[in-house]
Formats: sequence, structure tokens, C-alpha cells
Amino acid sequence: MADIEVRAHTALHVLKGAVVKVLGQDAKWTASVYVSGSHGRLTVKFSRKPTQEEIARIEEEANRKIKEDTPIIVHRLSRKEAEEKWGDTIYDLFPVPEDVKELTVVEIPGWNINACNKQHTKTTGEVGSIKLRKPRYRKAKQLLELPFDIV
Ligand SMILES: [Zn+2]
Repeated sequence: MADIEVRAHTALHVLKGAVVKVLGQDAKWTASVYVSGSHGRLTVKFSRKPTQEEIARIEEEANRKIKEDTPIIVHRLSRKEAEEKWGDTIYDLFPVPEDVKELTVVEIPGWNINACNKQHTKTTGEVGSIKLRKPRYRKAKQLLELPFDIV
């Protein structure tokens, strides 16, 4: 079993895929991420407070993807190639520094793709299970915070 923080970090990618699946492209920009032990928090730009039903569906979809035990693919390629291939879908609101010319791009096929140089589990199944905590919507900043624990 992978290290707990590696699992919690990988959960961010799984959760992000579920967020975009349920809330749509409007939620495609990650504003920040946080992991400590088995706890994590994903914050995305979003224009409204989601319903409780949507939050429940996000959790369901994330755990469904974990149960599928999908292999996680790590690509290592030049920034130019990566941008030609995937455009800005690999980026977050916090930019990759200008001088970085080689990117590690982490892909959960058909689910999530993101330039990320952290360590990940080999499959989604290794994450375990995601339990969403009470979300917070910050209207003034248009930010949706999704805290979670992995169990
Ligand atoms: Zn990552």
C-alpha cells in the first residue's frame, strides 16, 4: 500500500475528475490544493454554490473511479509537446514556472490530466476511498473548497 500522503495527493486528481464530470467545464480551474496526512482539500474556481445532491454525486463518481482501479499514466515530455497535445487542460490557476521546459503530466485516462511533479499511486484503486467533508463556497472569491479524508 502506498504512503498515505501519496494516496491523499492522488485523491486530488480523482476528485478533480469527478468535480468536472458533475459540475462541468465551468469548474475546470484548480485554484489550490492541500494535503496533510490522510486529509486533503481541493479548491476550484466555480460560479455558484453547488447543491447537496451535486456534492453527493461528486463523492460517488470519485469512489466509482477508485473502484474501477484505473491505471494512472505518467508522461514525461517537453513543455512544447505537452501544450501541443493537451493545451491548457494540463494547467491549474497557479502557473508552472516559465523556466520549466520538461513536464511530468499525470493522466487518469478519460478522467483527469494535469501537469504535476508529485508522487502518485499506480492505480486509482490504491487511493482507498474518498469521504467528502463539509464543502465551503466562497462567493466573493468564486471558490469552491472541497475538503476530504481518505479512508
Ligand atoms: Zn499530482
